[in-house]
Amino acid sequence: MMKQIGLYVHIPFCKQKCAYCDFSSYAGRECDMERYICHLIDEINERASKEYQIDTLFIGGGTPSLLPPDLMEKLLSALHSSFFFSPDAECTCECNPGTVTKDFLTILKQNGINRLSFGAQASQSGLLSLLGRIHTWAQVKESVDMAHQAGFENINLDLMLGLPEQTVEDLSETLDAALALSPFHLSCYGLIVEEGTKMYAMVESGKWHLPNEDTEREMYELCRKRLTDYGMIQYEISNFALPGHACRHNTDCWSRKEYLGFGCAACSFLDEKRYQNPSNLDDYLSGKAPEIIPISREDARFESIMLGLRMMKGVSLSQFQAMHGVELMDIYGERLQKSFSLGLVVLQDGYLRLTRKGMDVQNAVLVELL
Ligand code: SF4
Repeated sequence: MMKQIGLYVHIPFCKQKCAYCDFSSYAGRECDMERYICHLIDEINERASKEYQIDTLFIGGGTPSLLPPDLMEKLLSALHSSFFFSPDAECTCECNPGTVTKDFLTILKQNGINRLSFGAQASQSGLLSLLGRIHTWAQVKESVDMAHQAGFENINLDLMLGLPEQTVEDLSETLDAALALSPFHLSCYGLIVEEGTKMYAMVESGKWHLPNEDTEREMYELCRKRLTDYGMIQYEISNFALPGHACRHNTDCWSRKEYLGFGCAACSFLDEKRYQNPSNLDDYLSGKAPEIIPISREDARFESIMLGLRMMKGVSLSQFQAMHGVELMDIYGERLQKSFSLGLVVLQDGYLRLTRKGMDVQNAVLVELL
């Protein structure tokens, strides 16, 4: 029987480095795009197999929409000739407003991409420029319009909350502006200030001020209320979708389904091992081999809970049993007692899930399990 897996492809090029970004992404390296795609295609050909059935493809970055259309076409045709895609595979490409062209969208459409994810972030120009984004909200609208005209309906917008100087009113305005574009999916990510970024330096030096915890919680509740009132379903801590449009690729990752990753910083997960490609672009281009990281039985079980609790439905007890050969409650029952008694987790319909209260202190629940 064919093994069902997902594919991830990383495109590390960006026009400009955003203030908060610690992803593997490079500004000013457009001259390496062609060489990078050749390496990617070699890597794809090496792993080519018709024993896999591809259920999901996610092309992320970086800024995939910065690639010239002919390079994107080469990449997509290499993927399709190396792997067997299910007829209903979910195939997503990340795009950044201000970089999308009609030709690029046409190539995506002709080569099986059926879902787009735009990094929109906030509707206020001041916040976008503080974040170091290259676009305006007018360009978000223009890109989404272009995508609709090219025949894409399944569109996600990434939004951010908890930004320096962002108010609850700013977020409310952003949510309205985003919903006006009729997305099928919204990801509302809380800002994480990563060490080594410009954001970190500005916050540490006191030049930029983060909203306090209460304001951040108010922002999160606003997202939950506004989006569920609109008819979206919250299916993960930060993700909301119209019924039937949850992102399958991410849901599969949170369920520990296997995947192959291509490109610098990409990771593959197969047979309880991770294959971590070098995160540095030059190391990748020089052909440095991936690091192979075996996952212990204990780590695998913990991962199932850690990832599963991100989802509103929680961790399936039967899937846990099938994956690990033991009952979840036999392994973790005792360590979960405190979280049960504090009302942070519940067992319901064969799933272990966080309560609303538990979602605010997810890390504390996980620490009890370690
Ligand atoms: S566009 Fe995305 S990947 Fe590129 S620098 Fe900004 S946050 Fe990082």
